[in-house]
Amino acid sequence: MQLAQQKIGQKNIERVISYLERLFPNPDPELHFDSDYQCLVAVILSAQCTDKRVNLVTEQLFKDYPDSFAMAKLSQSELEKRIYSTGFYHNKAKNILAMTKILNEKYDGKVPNDPDELEKLPGVGRKTANVVSSVRFGAKRLGVDTHVLRVTNRLGLVNARTPREVEKQWTEFYPSYQNHDTHFRLVLFGRYHCKAIRPKCSECELRDICKYYKNEQR
Ligand code: SF4
Repeated sequence: MQLAQQKIGQKNIERVISYLERLFPNPDPELHFDSDYQCLVAVILSAQCTDKRVNLVTEQLFKDYPDSFAMAKLSQSELEKRIYSTGFYHNKAKNILAMTKILNEKYDGKVPNDPDELEKLPGVGRKTANVVSSVRFGAKRLGVDTHVLRVTNRLGLVNARTPREVEKQWTEFYPSYQNHDTHFRLVLFGRYHCKAIRPKCSECELRDICKYYKNEQR
């Protein structure tokens, strides 16, 4: 990031965070889960699917198969039927069962408290590892999904093309804001305010510092 951009980002980060805190004082995850394992499964299922749909599916799934040892009893086709409506059900079922097997054999059914170990599990990408480890273990990581990528770039807080670049710049420039609350606030802001199409700029209090808004006005 250029020095000038870095300074702008540093100057504005506190305004952005304070605005997001006012908009979303209690940014709880919209996904429902009761354990580290359920959190991991729910986040895997949420890829390319709404949290609402995932919650509908996991409500019964977690009642019948609440932990990794119970889940391991399901066959691939049985799990596929249960998660069908979340989309990409074949790959998701395959990954969940493979990941579950490793947890049971290598970690005694526990989810490892280490984002780098998590990332080695089938179906667990960088975003999932960061979200699960920050939500469940308080790791200083920022999960970067499509909303976080869009919002942080539009505001000019980062200048990044990929989630990995956002994370790198965020870690370098805003280390105090690498946490799950910031992740959820950015996601909610992107989902309901700074939407991909027709962002609600007219009611946004960040217009004066927003790079995207200023460009649109030219
Ligand atoms: S001004 Fe518009 S584009 Fe900029 S952060 Fe606000 S909603 Fe998003």
